[in-house]
Amino acid sequence: MFKKILIANRGEIALRVVYACRELGIRTVAVYSEADENSLHVRFADEDVCIGPARGADSYLNVPAIISAAEITGADAIHPGYGFLSESAYLAEVCEACHIKFIGPSPGVIRLMGDKARARRAMKKAGVPILPGSDGPIDSEERGLKVARDLGYPVIIKAAAGGGGRGMRIVRSPGDLGSALRTATREAQAAFGVGDVYIEKYIEAPRHIEVQVLGDHHGAVVHLGERECSIQRRHQKLIEEAPSPALTDRQRRKLGSTVVDAARAVQYTNAGTFEFLMDPSGHFYFIEANTRLQVEHGVTELITGVDVVKEQIRIAAGERLSFKQSDIAFTGHAIECRINAEHPETFVPSPGQIQAFSVPGGPGVRIDTFAHADCVVPPYYDSLIAKVMTWGRDRQEAIARMRRALEMTVVEGIHTSIPLHLKILADPDFEAGRLSTAFMDRYQTAPPRTS
Ligand code: ADP
Repeated sequence: MFKKILIANRGEIALRVVYACRELGIRTVAVYSEADENSLHVRFADEDVCIGPARGADSYLNVPAIISAAEITGADAIHPGYGFLSESAYLAEVCEACHIKFIGPSPGVIRLMGDKARARRAMKKAGVPILPGSDGPIDSEERGLKVARDLGYPVIIKAAAGGGGRGMRIVRSPGDLGSALRTATREAQAAFGVGDVYIEKYIEAPRHIEVQVLGDHHGAVVHLGERECSIQRRHQKLIEEAPSPALTDRQRRKLGSTVVDAARAVQYTNAGTFEFLMDPSGHFYFIEANTRLQVEHGVTELITGVDVVKEQIRIAAGERLSFKQSDIAFTGHAIECRINAEHPETFVPSPGQIQAFSVPGGPGVRIDTFAHADCVVPPYYDSLIAKVMTWGRDRQEAIARMRRALEMTVVEGIHTSIPLHLKILADPDFEAGRLSTAFMDRYQTAPPRTS
């Protein structure tokens, strides 16, 4: 087992990795930018190293600074968290060359899944249903028009290197395809450094369902069931839950075994998530695989009792998975609300100094956060400040617990998305489990107040 792990991240996920390391008796090294000097992840790690100025590109994305920090402190592994360098095949390769274990899949698998057009082809070959679409990148308007005509409108143009819901364009008629193609290519180039885009059939109001897998280095692969993440704003998840209220046990078993077979086919190791869209008639289509820990892994932990982060560490250390598929039981229902530092109606980011901060406990509540009274939410990074998760014997109890947990959460000094979450939780469609990625259309962004 590792003696010391460097955590190449910040915020709640850096703390989450500290929790797992402490429980496993592993020392931790925090890295931080100048903006995060007083953060909890720095306070609670055993050692810490400043790796650069506030801007992500100068600190949390700075591979040489992170590798130097690992070498200076003698860390034998790096946990990348999510975001930042978590899906960097380059970091995984540099780690290999420096004899530092990267806690994640192999560079080859990260690279394969990081190119969504290639990932689609690999999944199709492995027998996983994918959305009808282009076989590879679209390099001309002519080709785009032909693919879209064959698919039938609407279609969606997506960045091959995409992530975080960026670089997508829905096209409803041929007249709009050319300009959408050019904008999407430009956006992809600017955001990801790669301009490749591909076209997929657009599904109206699907459900987003994803499956968590774990694979060790001895050929064992298991799934930990699905999460439903249909409550999204601008293709970014706001609320996630497990299990999905839409799946039957039969569908769950079938989807799970399809994903396990696919993960085996690409020799997947460590933790990963295979994402699908479910159309209104119940068909599943693969959209992408994320080769890292997900923000929403906690809801899976709550219903399975498996600590996904500890498993990631054990797998990277070469240990065998200590359980089989048949050992995994799903108990009750879990929900997560992502609490963002933003205005609940305008969604304008609201960084700044938190004045008062209090979170509730009580049965079935788990809160992962880096926030506390007097802490500053810097403007440079994503706006997630806390993940409030609740567990209940059934969905209704999980919702009731979420409601009372959010009602009793106090955050003063900045705006948060809590009022929006409470509105969603009270929506009869949400309560009935009638979810889709179009759910949030009913809360159209209100214009910012001028007075
Ligand atoms: P990213 O990597 O940017 O997160 P994904 O491919 O995972 O992109 O898609 C994110 C979200 O965008 C999905 O959860 C869904 O809401 C929407 N989406 C993506 N592809 C389609 C599609 N073909 N039809 C309808 N919605 C889609």
